[in-house]
Amino acid sequence: MDIFSKIAAGEIPSYKCAENEEFYAFLDINPLVKGHTLVIPRREVDYIFDMEDDEIGRYQQFAKKVAKAIKEAFPCVKVAEVVLGLEVPHAHIHLIPMQSEADVDFKREKLSLPKEEFQAIADKIYAAFVK
Ligand code: AMP
Repeated sequence: MDIFSKIAAGEIPSYKCAENEEFYAFLDINPLVKGHTLVIPRREVDYIFDMEDDEIGRYQQFAKKVAKAIKEAFPCVKVAEVVLGLEVPHAHIHLIPMQSEADVDFKREKLSLPKEEFQAIADKIYAAFVK
């Protein structure tokens, strides 16, 4: 199992933001801004465009719901959706609350936050998601 499958299965801890039977959302451990979230399919699939049309449709619907929760928890101009990176071989959508395009610059220095703050951020998004 790859690392994100283990996270979705609860075998590796994460800061859970949202979930359903097919998808899981958790905080990126190296966030660009507070509320930077990763959305993954529980199913082990590397490349997002290898997903079937109906699955990718449900994935986007789930990501949209998570983005709404992020925007409610962390008011912003828009929530950016970004798919990039070759680091982890498991499909993942980055959702990033942005005040400006500079917030989505992956070359910029990442935030380092204490555990308690990660937990508080995740709890806030989760509460907005399940509302
Ligand atoms: P990339 O493939 O470039 O999108 O990178 C994978 C992303 O996953 C990076 O933003 C990492 O900070 C993030 N990441 C990797 N491992 C973990 C983890 N265990 N928990 C949360 N985020 C992670």
